[in-house]
Amino acid sequence: MSGASDTPNSTRDAANALRRTAFPASSSRAVSSPIMPSVVYASATPDALDDQYEGRAKGFTYSREGHPNAEALARRIDMMEGVEGGIVTGSGMGAVTAMFMGLLKASDHVVAGNQLYGRSLRMLSDQLPRLGIEATLADPTDASAIEAALTDQTRLILVETVSNPTLRVPDLEAIAELARRRGVLLAVDNTFTTPLAYRALDAGADIVIHSITKLLSGHSDAMLGYVAARDPELMRAMEETAVTLGLTASPFDCWLAERGLLTFELRYRRACENAAKLADCLADLPGVRRVLYPGRSDHPDHQRAMALFGGQGGNMVSFEVEGGRAAANRLVAAAPDLPFAPTLGDVATTLSHPPSSSHRALTAERREALGISEGFFRVSVGIEEADQLCEELRRAVAAAAG
Ligand SMILES: *Cc1c(COP(=O)(O)O)cnc(C)c1O
Repeated sequence: MSGASDTPNSTRDAANALRRTAFPASSSRAVSSPIMPSVVYASATPDALDDQYEGRAKGFTYSREGHPNAEALARRIDMMEGVEGGIVTGSGMGAVTAMFMGLLKASDHVVAGNQLYGRSLRMLSDQLPRLGIEATLADPTDASAIEAALTDQTRLILVETVSNPTLRVPDLEAIAELARRRGVLLAVDNTFTTPLAYRALDAGADIVIHSITKLLSGHSDAMLGYVAARDPELMRAMEETAVTLGLTASPFDCWLAERGLLTFELRYRRACENAAKLADCLADLPGVRRVLYPGRSDHPDHQRAMALFGGQGGNMVSFEVEGGRAAANRLVAAAPDLPFAPTLGDVATTLSHPPSSSHRALTAERREALGISEGFFRVSVGIEEADQLCEELRRAVAAAAG
C-alpha cells in the first residue's frame, strides 16, 4: 500500500478534528476556576511520571488520586481551618469513612457523642463492629461521661460541635484536654459551626471534618466532604485510604462548591442574624412549647456556645409545638414557601421534622428521652428577609394549633 491512502481528505480532517489536543493557550488568565473533568493526565516521559509519583514534580495522573478542582477547593478550606493538606471527598460521609478506615484497625475502640449525625451513628453501630471496631456513645456535654467511656483500647473520640436536632454544645475544651491527657485522638465534625465560628484544630482537636454539602457550599447542588489533620502521618493515612476506597469527589461538584464558598462569609453572617431573630420570634408565638437556639440565654449551653463560637449562635433553630403528628402535618402544609427537606445550610430556609426523617430509626421512647417529640422541628435558617420568615412561621404555627 502506498502512503497516499484511499481515505478522502474530508474524512481525515473530520477524524483529526476529534483527536485529543491541548486546550487553547492564553496569555491572559481566566479569573474563575476552570472545570477539569479529565480523568487522566498525559505525562511527557516515564521519567517525568516518576518525578510526579515521587513528589519531585507537581502534577496530576488519574483523577481518583487527585484533580485540580478538588485541590483548589481543599486549599481554600485549609486556609479557613488553619491547616495544610486537607482533602476533599465525595460526601461528608466519605470524610468520616476516610478518617475511621484510615486511622483505626480491628480491636480499636471509639468513644462518640450520643447525638451524632444519623449516618455517623450507623457507621459506629452497623459498619465498624463488622470490622472489629467497637464504639461507646456518651453525652459530650459532660466530659466526665466521655472519660468514663474510655477504655485501654480507645483510639479516637468523635464529637460534633453542635448536636442535631437539640443543638447541644459539647464541653469541647474539657474533651480536648482529656484526649491530650489520655493520648487519644480527638476528631471534631465542624459542619454545624463552620470555621467562621470555631476552629477545631486551634482548639486542640487532631482531626476536623466537614460536610461541605451543607453551609460551606450552601446551594444544595453539590455533595462533598472534607477532612484535615495537622499531623502529616494522620493526613497521609487518611488520604491513602480515601484514594484506595474510591472516596474521591467529582470535579464538577468541587467547582460548584468553590463557587459557593466565595460567598460563604456573607451567607453565614446573614443566616446567623436571621436565626437569632427567628428564634426570638418563635419564642413569642402562642403554641410554641419551647425554642432551642444556642444564641438565646434560655438554651442549656448558651454560655459555652458564646465562649466557644465567638458569640455566634449559628444558623440552626429548633422548636416544638403542641399537638403531635397531626399538628406537625398542619404546620408543614401551611408553610409552602419553606421547603420541607432533611438538609441544612442552603441559602433558602428549610424545615426538617426529625421524628419522620433523621431520627426515624429511633424508638419513640429514645426520641422522647432526647426531647424529640412529634411536634419537634428544626429550621436551617437561610438568607431571606427575617421578618418575612417570621411571618411565614407565625402562620404555620397558628395552622398547627388547628
Ligand atoms: C450532613 C452531615 C454529614 C454527612 O455529610 P454528607 O455530605 O451528607 O455525606 C456528616 N456530619 C454532619 C454533622 C452532617 O450534617
